[in-house]
Amino acid sequence: MSANDKRKRLLILASKLGYQTRGFAEAAEKLGVAVMFGTDRCHQLENPWGDEALALHFERGREAAEEIVRALGGNPPDAILALGDRPTPAAAYAAKAFGIRGNAPEAVEACRNKLRQRQVLAAAGVPVPEFFSFSLVHDLGRVVRRVKFPCVVKPLMLAASQGVVRANDAGEFERAVERIRALLTSPEIQILREPMLDRLLVEKYIPGKEVAVEGLMEGGRLRVLAIFDKPEPLEGPYFEETIYVTPSRLPAEMQRAIEECAGRTVRALGLTAGPLHAEFRVNEEGPWVLEAAPRPIGGLCGRALRFGEGKISLEELLLRQALGLGGSEVEREEDASGVMMIPVPRSGIFEGVEGVEEAEGIRGVEEIRITARLRDYVAAWPEGASYLGFIFARGDSAWAVEEALRAAHARLRFKFSPRLPVEHPVTGRMGS
Ligand code: ADP
Repeated sequence: MSANDKRKRLLILASKLGYQTRGFAEAAEKLGVAVMFGTDRCHQLENPWGDEALALHFERGREAAEEIVRALGGNPPDAILALGDRPTPAAAYAAKAFGIRGNAPEAVEACRNKLRQRQVLAAAGVPVPEFFSFSLVHDLGRVVRRVKFPCVVKPLMLAASQGVVRANDAGEFERAVERIRALLTSPEIQILREPMLDRLLVEKYIPGKEVAVEGLMEGGRLRVLAIFDKPEPLEGPYFEETIYVTPSRLPAEMQRAIEECAGRTVRALGLTAGPLHAEFRVNEEGPWVLEAAPRPIGGLCGRALRFGEGKISLEELLLRQALGLGGSEVEREEDASGVMMIPVPRSGIFEGVEGVEEAEGIRGVEEIRITARLRDYVAAWPEGASYLGFIFARGDSAWAVEEALRAAHARLRFKFSPRLPVEHPVTGRMGS
């Protein structure tokens, strides 16, 4: 991109440059906006847009921002957008350095760490489950005496429900902790170099229905774009996501309570700008915050949301707002809409899927995207963090959409083969 290019410039920070970034690049092209990328996975980079991506270390947000300023200082971006949790601090520090709109770095850092987020929200009187954290070097026998069951135990810095496990008694708790410890010490997680991989958070299990809220901070106020019901029970022991359907079928009064709770959540955290994705559980005591993150909904799920009578994608809406292009005030379309994140039924080598065409023929189903790569190893939860793909449906009612998603999923037959143990060439130890 040349220095005398007069187009607005957007910097996208993302760990994976894949289908989600492509959606934003397409929206940017439609709007005549120039896009630059920053990523921490340069070796995995497919670079279909011809621009070089900045190589960054997102786990050190302040340093990543300094690197961004060094690289772009002479020609700063007009807006920065973080996709996924990992780049959010880098985006906030860089926005501050450039003096462009963004969240305060402290607010974003508080969201990045599940313990810190609980502490900030609890101190502000926002309803969160009772919690405490412990180090993996602590004597587990002592820890377990403090736990109230049923509980949920989780790492502080991972996402997508990876390593999140429910335990109903002391035995389950100890087994869950050992399983999470093995995950956190695995090479796949260690390579992320996240801090605090030696601490876990344990909190009371909150029964009830779960919803996701997609929002946008405008002038310091939260605008709720959609509330998604999650109609699957999500009672554990593991918590991979499945179906999201909007509009919510919860009573209007409960939806208002969720919006109000979301507003209190962002105010307590100090979030003021850009997209918000948050999860809540609701029961007879009202809404409880499970988590809030200053980023849009992940993966391809954003495609479930269209605005302005279906003409504007979520990506376009977010770009319009971030760059002050106008036209982001429009409402979500009238149709009910939903997405199913296709969970991994068991870990193994993905050998293919049958029934896609038949499933796509189901009334209401708009698209099925299988994103798992053939012959790749896919891990089931709690070790896993990526879905086999996504099913999208639209219809007159949330019920019809939910039914279409379930019917389509039932037609899909995924095939896996076991990953064979291999002998390590140096140690001779068997691994898998
Ligand atoms: P992540 O950021 O990895 O998605 P979360 O803390 O949001 O981790 O937990 C993932 C999922 O686990 C939630 O969406 C919810 O279904 C379940 N979960 C987590 N904590 C609790 C809790 N205290 N009570 C009930 N369910 C929980």
